[in-house]
Amino acid sequence: MSHEIRTPMNAVLGMTNLVLETPLSRKQKKYLEAINKSSQNLLVIINDILDLSKLEAGKMELERIPFNIEDSIQQIKDTLRFNAEEKGLKLITIISDDVPRFLMGDPSRLNQILINLAGNAIKFTEKGSVKILVENDTAIKGAVKFRIIDSGIGIPPEKLNLLFQSFQQVDSSTSRKYGGTGLGLTISKTLVELQSGKISMKSELGKGSEFHFFIPYENATEESFKVLENSKLTDKASLDGIRILVAEDYEYNQIVLRDTLEHLIKNVKIDIAENGKIAINKLEQNEYDLILMDIHMPEMNGLDACKFIRNEMGESKKFIPIIAMTANVLSKDIEATKEVGMNEFVPKPFKREELLQVLSQFYYNPNGQQKEGDLNNKSGTTNVEINSEKVTDMTFLESFTEGDQDRMKKYIDLFLKLIPKNLEKILLALDQNNYNDLAIFSHTMKPQLNYMGMKEAKGWAEKIEKYSKEGIELEKIPKLIEQLKSHIEKSYEELNEVA
Ligand code: ADP
Repeated sequence: MSHEIRTPMNAVLGMTNLVLETPLSRKQKKYLEAINKSSQNLLVIINDILDLSKLEAGKMELERIPFNIEDSIQQIKDTLRFNAEEKGLKLITIISDDVPRFLMGDPSRLNQILINLAGNAIKFTEKGSVKILVENDTAIKGAVKFRIIDSGIGIPPEKLNLLFQSFQQVDSSTSRKYGGTGLGLTISKTLVELQSGKISMKSELGKGSEFHFFIPYENATEESFKVLENSKLTDKASLDGIRILVAEDYEYNQIVLRDTLEHLIKNVKIDIAENGKIAINKLEQNEYDLILMDIHMPEMNGLDACKFIRNEMGESKKFIPIIAMTANVLSKDIEATKEVGMNEFVPKPFKREELLQVLSQFYYNPNGQQKEGDLNNKSGTTNVEINSEKVTDMTFLESFTEGDQDRMKKYIDLFLKLIPKNLEKILLALDQNNYNDLAIFSHTMKPQLNYMGMKEAKGWAEKIEKYSKEGIELEKIPKLIEQLKSHIEKSYEELNEVA
């Protein structure tokens, strides 16, 4: 069933997003945004229910691969850092020295459990901290113990035994205030037990809660882990040097695609066409290995462009692989792409692995060699520069969210919401020569600037913080703040375009 339920939901979301990109009255926009939000909430619930039914039916298959526990915890931290920062909470992670770094098991399921528990901890904590501790479980040989400790609202004792049951929340106001389905803990418990572990918790009302679980893992060797990592890299290596024409009108998507591909593939060459007509012109004049084609574009859409290429162009060009990219994932849309002769289909927002996999179906460079460390390679030559004076750069956010556009949008929205307030505080502190506040506010601004790839601005914030803290070079601070302000204003324009 899961495909049948998720597909139309994705279509609702995808199409809502598409309509949101068109000119709309304020009222229409508001209604559509409400549809968007509700569908996203519904999708979370659907995913939870589907997960649970899969678990209950015994259909969830566990992986058994070597993984690095430090990477796993870092990933959790990266994912939740912003949620914690938004609430002013400290997110602390500690891995004890006696925990083996390389373990054999299912890192995705561990991630799912930790995200559930630590996500709850953040959700139900208003101030203080959330800690994730990873320890060697002395009671059971080889078991690793995970403790998620918060200083939040706590849970009344009479409710404790209900929590691991499906659809249970502490009281009915919970879902109204905090959202959620009441399924997260049930799923986590089942996942832990599936891995021969155990989960339990203790809590004190008003003081906080601790959820802890252990999973017995075998140790893995660093070599086996590296072999696995390298095998993932080999795929990318075979894409070395690929020349891609991207036909896409939406600048935000252009940037995301370019960043992702340049980040992942060595010597990739990317050319961008804003519509089907331009794509055809470019294809006539240049050599490409493959086209990534958006369906909805002004002037000439992707389907018509593909029809033209397949029917009207010369022998050397007409067989070029064309991969459709669209948010429409209904079967009739997919059929339409096949009918005009498109080779494959990647749903938007795309997942990196999915995109790479499709690319490697149509291109293979046997000499491609990509070593670890080459991943951030930026040497890909490009024919079209996208607005190089931009003060923001989505590379980091893109890699950090793994290309998940909903998450990216969330961070951008958050940035747009928080940054003006923060700037205001800095300006006020400067006005009052309050260097203590200046140090604090420029400090809190740094990670926000980092997420948006605003390197220069982050450098200035760093200096402002340092000078204010140490009471040196104070005369330079006003100028630094002015520069910071100008970049923030510019970022506001750039990000409002993509958000
Ligand atoms: P959800 O969070 O989607 O409501 P869960 O199964 O994850 O569902 O959690 C069930 C309920 O347990 C929550 O609604 C909340 O009332 C309570 N709960 C879970 N974690 C915490 C926590 N860290 N602190 C306080 N209450 C919690």
